[in-house]
Amino acid sequence: MTITAPQRQNLLGMTREEMEAFFLAIGEKKFRAAQVMKWIHHEGCSDFDAMTNLSKALRTRLNEVAEIRGPRVAYEGKSSDGTRKWVLEVEDGSYVETVLIPADDGKRRTLCVSSQVGCSLDCSFCSTGKQGFQRNLTAAEIIGQVWAASNSDGPRQGSTHRPVTNVVMMGMGEPLLNYDSVLPAMKLMLDDNGYGLSKRRVTLSTSGVVPMIERLGDDLDVSLAISLHAGNDELRSELVPLNRKYNISTLLAACKRYLDKCGDARIVTIEYTLIKDVNDQQQHAQELAEVLKELPCKINLIPFNPFPHSGYETPSRNQVMRFQQWLYELGFVAPVRSTRGDDIDAACGQLVGRVKDRTRRHERYIQSIQIDAD
Ligand code: SAH
Ligand code: SF4
Repeated sequence: MTITAPQRQNLLGMTREEMEAFFLAIGEKKFRAAQVMKWIHHEGCSDFDAMTNLSKALRTRLNEVAEIRGPRVAYEGKSSDGTRKWVLEVEDGSYVETVLIPADDGKRRTLCVSSQVGCSLDCSFCSTGKQGFQRNLTAAEIIGQVWAASNSDGPRQGSTHRPVTNVVMMGMGEPLLNYDSVLPAMKLMLDDNGYGLSKRRVTLSTSGVVPMIERLGDDLDVSLAISLHAGNDELRSELVPLNRKYNISTLLAACKRYLDKCGDARIVTIEYTLIKDVNDQQQHAQELAEVLKELPCKINLIPFNPFPHSGYETPSRNQVMRFQQWLYELGFVAPVRSTRGDDIDAACGQLVGRVKDRTRRHERYIQSIQIDAD
């Protein structure tokens, strides 16, 4: 008979409640959870022996039964505009990407986090969708992206040092199709013993999984972003096939209920990827304004980010501005989300395919090159 050693539990992705249950289960007091969470998330510590406010006996015990295992950084890039991008190797040799985008005023640093490896929803303009679905990320792999970015310049030093000020779940994958991992990860983003971000600084973006929007409203009231991309069902179904299941009116009704549950003066962010000659004409602006007229919202315009064989093109800058002006005349202020980090492909789903397609030798090579153009 072979006896295998029991697997050590990874504490990285545990919420406060889960961590308290873990400590009770090993015969310790609940308050150890807060102590260890602070070490992990405030200090970036992954070594129990460095946790000096724990007894020697507890540290030894933790080394036996637990671990703090984050993702391995396979690639790190810094763009000339300050945008940083990491390709992280997670548990089974899969890769996910995460991008940190600094605001021009230097006050905000927004981390774009992935929730799945690939995506099953196959939106026609999205390179992640084209990769197909591989698997859901665990809570540890999702919060591991925040952890890795927060500690990338050396361990984070205490809760007041904030390398990441905002998180958007807008990387690879559909977060509402991986709810059981996304929910605990977002709880850790909000928890004072985790990253202590306010609910307005944590945004979940969805292509419209209506029943899960309802559930999210019951569990957490983070900011909600909806990937709409069209104001008529025929076009939206072409771009976002999920629209055939949950159409625009069903989706926007769910958004209204979400806002009602939040109860404060909250608005939904509507994401609209502008694609040349597909959804960038005046009629499209009118249709968009019509469906949004009852919803407290702001619109973010995102010029299509091209990738090979997409079959789509980016509208000209003038066309983007014309579209913005049409919306303005219809009563909507719609900022254009600037494409940042172009020189390192820091956009949705662009780099992972590239890393994955090559040999591990190439991977080691890209790890070693210095691409900082500054
Ligand atoms: N699955 C979620 C979150 C990840 S996608 C969702 O769809 O909302 C994050 C955002 O990037 C979405 O608004 C998506 O529509 C947009 N996006 C995807 N591919 C893009 C591309 N090639 N160019 C511009 N925006 C893109
Ligand atoms: Fe998935 Fe979002 Fe890409 Fe659509 S846009 S395929 S939902 S990641």
